[in-house]
Amino acid sequence: MIARASAGLLIAGALAGSLAGAGASTHTPAHDGEFLVLAGDFHVHGFPGDGALPAWALRDEARRRGLDVIAFTNHNQRLAGRIGRFVTGDTATPLVLRGEEITAAHYHIAVVGIERAVPGTLSAAEAIAAVHAQGAVAIAAHPDKMFWRGLDEAAQQTLDGAEIAHPMILGDPISRAQLIAFTRSTRELNPRLAAIGSTDYHYRQPMGLCRTYIFAREYSEAGVIEAIRAGRTVAFDPEGGTYGDPDLTEAVDRVRTAAQPPAAWRRILDAVSGIAGMLGLLGLIVFRNAVPRVAPGGASPLGAEPSPVTNALGRAPSGETRRQDPLHRVPKNIVRSVHHPTRLPRFC
Ligand SMILES: [Zn+2]
Ligand SMILES: [Zn+2]
Repeated sequence: MIARASAGLLIAGALAGSLAGAGASTHTPAHDGEFLVLAGDFHVHGFPGDGALPAWALRDEARRRGLDVIAFTNHNQRLAGRIGRFVTGDTATPLVLRGEEITAAHYHIAVVGIERAVPGTLSAAEAIAAVHAQGAVAIAAHPDKMFWRGLDEAAQQTLDGAEIAHPMILGDPISRAQLIAFTRSTRELNPRLAAIGSTDYHYRQPMGLCRTYIFAREYSEAGVIEAIRAGRTVAFDPEGGTYGDPDLTEAVDRVRTAAQPPAAWRRILDAVSGIAGMLGLLGLIVFRNAVPRVAPGGASPLGAEPSPVTNALGRAPSGETRRQDPLHRVPKNIVRSVHHPTRLPRFC
């Protein structure tokens, strides 16, 4: 019963999310002087891999969110990005760029414009060098304090960008201060470091919640990479933070003021979608294994069974051997989150 209700919630969340974006028109990039001002999210996970949506659906979602460009950055693999590139084409808009999140124990780096995957077994500086050898750019992903040891000075000197706006900072002043501190210290070594805002989208937070405005000379992968490499970016978070060169930040304020904000009903449906989706998913994970066993002879097992929650957590009652590992039934990406080496199971 509860599992069915959870499935219903999950479906309701998906429907609400679809309705929130229904009818949204294609976003037209703004201009500022000689530059196009492109809205981008350079940290997006997709299917097959670490995210819920395949590339073609991600592109539609990016369009609904008013984004001009996204990068497909699954953990340590490029398969989904290759499929996405094949399906969406090189020049279709919004642009879907080839990427990877190089995922190591002591650093995560979001890469944009990569052709071949870079393993997470290298040091951060070595990984960045391998990225540059392919003409791509390397962005420190959610560089809070736990990653500072891995993102050492050698890495800071060659990074192209750092996420200063990320959902982890929303309502969390400590995380916000740590991402700001990392960007400041890196800029002392590397003044052209691009300020990046990314959502680290897997399935829950709306894509583009945190975003980057790029001042590009052309609307292409090469144009985006050149702008990041030159540091012509402004990072934005929905709590009002903008980060970057003051002239560029003023230009972004003008662009955002001129743009129509999403209607209230879309924002409400977004919130409903997120809450219903999370509750539904949680319910399915916790209660899917809660179907009572039928004892031999058909006797009711009630009273002899551990509670559904206890069972789902894999704790066998005293005197009874654990019968199953509940994690084997959880979607693979959730298992990966549980075993993720960071403290960021929602955003990685
Ligand atoms: Zn990560
Ligand atoms: Zn990530």
